[in-house]
Amino acid sequence: RPGAGPAARPKPAAPPAEHKRVVRIEGGIPVTELARHMGVKGNELLRGLWRLGLTSATRNTIVDADVAQILASEHGYEVRDVSFREAEALAAAPDPPGSRRPRAPVVTVMGHVDHGKTTLLDTIRETHVAPAEPGGITQHIAAYRARAGDLGEVVFLDTPGHEAFAAMRARGAQTTDIVVLIVAADDGVMPQTLEALAHAREAGVPIVVAVNKIDAPSARPDRVRGQLAEHGQIPEEWGGDTTFVDIPARTGDGVDDLIASLSLNAEALGLAANPDKPAAGTVIESRLERGRGVVASVLIAEGSVKTGDTVLAGEHYGRVRAMTGEAGARVTRAGPSEVVDIVGIGGVPEAGAPVHVTDEEVAKRAAAERRDRKSRAAQDARTGRSIRDLMKRIKATHQRTLRVVVKADVHGSAEALTSALEALSAEDVTLSIVRTGVGAITESDVDLATASGAMIVGFRVRPVGGAAERADREGVALETYDVIYTAIEDIRRAMEGMLDPVVAEHPIGDLEVREVFRVPKVGTVAGCAVMSGKLRRHGRARVFRDGARVFDGDVRSLRRFAQDVSEVEEGHECGVHLGFEGVRAGDRIEAYEIVQEARTLKHARGSRSVP
Ligand code: GDP
Repeated sequence: RPGAGPAARPKPAAPPAEHKRVVRIEGGIPVTELARHMGVKGNELLRGLWRLGLTSATRNTIVDADVAQILASEHGYEVRDVSFREAEALAAAPDPPGSRRPRAPVVTVMGHVDHGKTTLLDTIRETHVAPAEPGGITQHIAAYRARAGDLGEVVFLDTPGHEAFAAMRARGAQTTDIVVLIVAADDGVMPQTLEALAHAREAGVPIVVAVNKIDAPSARPDRVRGQLAEHGQIPEEWGGDTTFVDIPARTGDGVDDLIASLSLNAEALGLAANPDKPAAGTVIESRLERGRGVVASVLIAEGSVKTGDTVLAGEHYGRVRAMTGEAGARVTRAGPSEVVDIVGIGGVPEAGAPVHVTDEEVAKRAAAERRDRKSRAAQDARTGRSIRDLMKRIKATHQRTLRVVVKADVHGSAEALTSALEALSAEDVTLSIVRTGVGAITESDVDLATASGAMIVGFRVRPVGGAAERADREGVALETYDVIYTAIEDIRRAMEGMLDPVVAEHPIGDLEVREVFRVPKVGTVAGCAVMSGKLRRHGRARVFRDGARVFDGDVRSLRRFAQDVSEVEEGHECGVHLGFEGVRAGDRIEAYEIVQEARTLKHARGSRSVP
């Protein structure tokens, strides 16, 4: 045969063209699809998977980027994972040499209750903070920037206590450069003093001790030094390295010294940051304010934020509409170690949430993924606790809830489908996503659906292993779709199917029985006059006698002049057979019909959740 090779050996995979061939995937790809992209047989890739030890893989198995790359490279292809990687998207370029400039230290004051934290911060604000500009918004400031002449500049964070400090740290926020531990000289070291000390040490930040109330008659500042020395904070004057400053917080004497020593500590720490790049920072606190909307107090760690920038703050983002600085005045730019109130973020971020100035696309995706992660974590916690409990509760409340397990080919479509389905949730039937996942529908999905009474919706994925059989056996509804719109329409109909149809009665006519006759083989027939409206053969009728209902049933036959007719109108006479042998002359007949209307989902007005 012309062109036939010398041997029947399988032809090796054709080498790739000169240019590297690339398959773009988002997180994962089904084996069949990868095969299609490379123009090879699915089974060929499957054998590759089996060689890798993935013996339970089928053609529908979704492989991740790493595995896909191994399979692809055998065929001369490259797999590029184009899914969103938050850390990479938000990573800042290294600072060019010389771009970092010294910045003020950010200080948190902690201590035992009543040892004078509030008094100290108030005094500092009165004596060392530039007064708010007239007309500035002064209602609440999460931080004070204190200046002590040329002794230095310090930013004091006004957080509610060391619990808040710990909570922020738990979210990964390292906001504080130095902790001021305030101890009343007349009271000495107390339990919360030691707690605060533990938190500060845990955070690995230097501690400066402010010995307060030295004006009190019973003040014993040396005892404070001794007590803290016992706990490992040896005063400098005793040869240790902890700075102790005596400050009668009430008078403000000593605040200069405190600021100076904080400033010195900061110098020793070499605090510096590059102000000329997109800002990164932390939410100190946030709130919803009438008139302004979401206001987030943000501590800038590095870079700068300007009005008009897009800001990502935890699970929310938005464009900076306006900013208020520490002194309560409007600012258009804020840099390292500054705290600004930012207006324009789309939702209220948590204290401790990381903040990044970034482009809108990145902000949008990161916010969505963080929300998704959070709700998934919440879901896992819920379903993990006890699905049976949950079902019991639903049954007890006669709640109508359609539960859905969503599986999709890639994360993006899982997210899109999930949010579209969640939007179907209405007043009378709610939809609840039990699990959202990427990958083929597995037996464990069926188990979850069985346990939670859920249906399974697969988007561009199919059941694998024994999943389809198990779903059949357990009576779990399992639907797969390749078009999002179809999925949503189907689910909407399923939800509407959970609603009882509205059954309505419409009266259609009024008749008077003039005489009755017995018709052989039929029974009693009422000779009637239609007083108003009409009577229909396939309708219903009630018989009233002296105002009391004596019969209610179907109209069995309707005749006019010995002819069967389908309806008789007002002003005419007719013979009606109701199957009611007791009908008498003088009875009144009310004709009515029953109309069933399928109900549609009613969405609660104003039920959109406030962010
Ligand atoms: P916080 O609970 O740590 O915020 O403590 P406060 O600032 O509310 O102070 C508790 C009490 O100590 C208040 O009655 C203050 O007037 C008093 N106090 C604060 N600083 C001084 C001080 O320097 N000297 C004296 N004698 N009392 C003070």
